[in-house]
Amino acid sequence: MAHHTADTTTHTQHAILEWVEAHRSDVIGLAQALVRIPSENKPPHGSELECQMFIADFMRQLGCRVDIFRPDEVAGLTEHSAYWPGRDYTNRPNVVGVLGQFEPGGNRSEGRRSLLFSGHVDVVPALGQGRFGWWDATVHEGKLYGRGSCDMKGGIAAFLMATQCVRQLGLELHGDLILESVVDEEFGGANGTLACRLRGYNADAAVVPEPNNMVISRAHRGGQQFRIYTSAPSIGMGFGETELPDPVTALAHIMVGLERLNAQFNARPKPEGFEGDTFPLMPLLLKAGEQLPWGTGEAIPETACVEFWIEIPAGVTKEELQGEIKQMIETLARDVATVRRVSWRMEERTRFLPGSTIPADSPILATLAKNFTLATNQPPVFANAPFACDVFMFNLHSPTPCALLGPRGGNAHAPDEWVNVEDLITLTKVFALTIADWLS
Ligand SMILES: [Zn+2]
Repeated sequence: MAHHTADTTTHTQHAILEWVEAHRSDVIGLAQALVRIPSENKPPHGSELECQMFIADFMRQLGCRVDIFRPDEVAGLTEHSAYWPGRDYTNRPNVVGVLGQFEPGGNRSEGRRSLLFSGHVDVVPALGQGRFGWWDATVHEGKLYGRGSCDMKGGIAAFLMATQCVRQLGLELHGDLILESVVDEEFGGANGTLACRLRGYNADAAVVPEPNNMVISRAHRGGQQFRIYTSAPSIGMGFGETELPDPVTALAHIMVGLERLNAQFNARPKPEGFEGDTFPLMPLLLKAGEQLPWGTGEAIPETACVEFWIEIPAGVTKEELQGEIKQMIETLARDVATVRRVSWRMEERTRFLPGSTIPADSPILATLAKNFTLATNQPPVFANAPFACDVFMFNLHSPTPCALLGPRGGNAHAPDEWVNVEDLITLTKVFALTIADWLS
């Protein structure tokens, strides 16, 4: 394919690419500033306020009209089928900035284009010790380290700086640009994203820069976290019983059953776009019994439990997923005496997060692809985002089709989380070019 040269780029495109090159340190500096303001999500609470106020200020400096609101003050949120109860939204406002005539909830004027960028500002709590400080935002060998750098303050910095680029270049926008920073996405939250949809922030297209390794995604996985408990009345050490009620071995049968069930899921035909994906089942916690002060266990535990996260393609419903897991355990309870002798229950540890997909011919995909090539001289890669996230709130619960394009990084949800600094520069270019394309 033809590589881009200056004579095939327009004056505006050229100016955007030059502006971002000249403002590299500002892009990195904004990502660092966001990382340095902790915004941990500790269900049911969260401390996003200070970071959200920083972003609101930044949006005001861009000339945005800024709307600051608690998710649970939005009419219809708590009654919505996708609302996940149990979170406390005290001091946890969503922040939305608008450039243009757009009024949330108002009728969108015919022929007027709109584009929306959305990111979540909450981060998984800092726990453990890495090489770099959690909130230092150290840049080392092309990587920016710190909690939230990759997931996903780097991406938020990129779309804020892209907006600053088009503003400082004085580009006239013939449409509406909506910038959104939501709270409470981690731990299966996503109420913040739903609240923006219900408040009326809908557009012709949305882009979420979750860290999907610089691919353009029209689909993402879903998933849910569960805990399964087995239990039986205590019989102590069990002297002389012929049939021991044994929650531990029963749970082991169930875990093997889960592994088999997930293999069956993976062997089924997968929906379009997900054909090559392998969907994991990850046991995260396993608990039973107690070590006594003298160093041994002495009784068959009354309960045992396993907590696991399972990922699914788009199209699988909550009823299908949960129904098949329960069916598998019921079958075991019928066929395996050890399982039959205990009682069991399954508990949701996160909300059900569906996967979602937008049509392959959604115009935002081609626009992002074209501008990716313009910014990098590389062909774009299209692939599904290999994680669950809040994008389903757009694709399943609003009229706004949402694509993903975000940076490469690593150690998300772990110490020494990092994001590729060069990718933040590239994303700023791609997003600024996309704003210019879409709205002019
Ligand atoms: Zn994320």
